[in-house]
Amino acid sequence: MPLHTLSHPLGAHVLTHLRDQTTKPALFRTLSYQISLLLALEATRDLATEAKPIDTPLESISGRVLAKPLAVVPILRAGLGMVQPFTDVFPDVSVGYVGLERDHTTAIARSYYCKLPPLAGKRTVVVDPMLATGGSAAQALSVVKSAGATEIVFVCIVASPEGVAVVEKAHPEVPIFTAALDRELNAKKYILPGLGDFGDRLYGT
Ligand code: URA
Repeated sequence: MPLHTLSHPLGAHVLTHLRDQTTKPALFRTLSYQISLLLALEATRDLATEAKPIDTPLESISGRVLAKPLAVVPILRAGLGMVQPFTDVFPDVSVGYVGLERDHTTAIARSYYCKLPPLAGKRTVVVDPMLATGGSAAQALSVVKSAGATEIVFVCIVASPEGVAVVEKAHPEVPIFTAALDRELNAKKYILPGLGDFGDRLYGT
């Protein structure tokens, strides 16, 4: 599956301010919303629609409406910062949660929470802002597959080449949408140039 990188100029603009270390949490949350909205639109560009006959004030037409519900599954906790654009824009959306915590010394993900709606028949969008080692993403994608999801996409804000390779190897059929593919991981598994710890910057911790 190809990696889809956001090409909208607004995406680059917003991402630059997200990366800026002087950006404070309140603005960081607004910018996260904006870039996640752009990514949500990109990741759902190919959603199926179906015919719906309606009457405009002037005549009858056959319009088109979304044919499938959507599920958005944030990987806790940073993924929460990407959910609202999906729930604001999509009329029929359910939200599930996968809690995976990265051990800061080993960088290995540990599952501590999982609550998912029925996923069969839905476009399932797994969201996590930073695709770093790919361990959490690959694990979360396995979790949603086990819960019945078949049509899955993964959406992040910044990806590392290492993370993309891990997800592509474990889940080759899952498209990845990102605002940027960065250079590499550092020794502590942070993305370079990246934007630091997304969860900490989102919540001011
Ligand atoms: N998680 C983050 O928040 N930032 C990184 O650079 C990598 C993982």
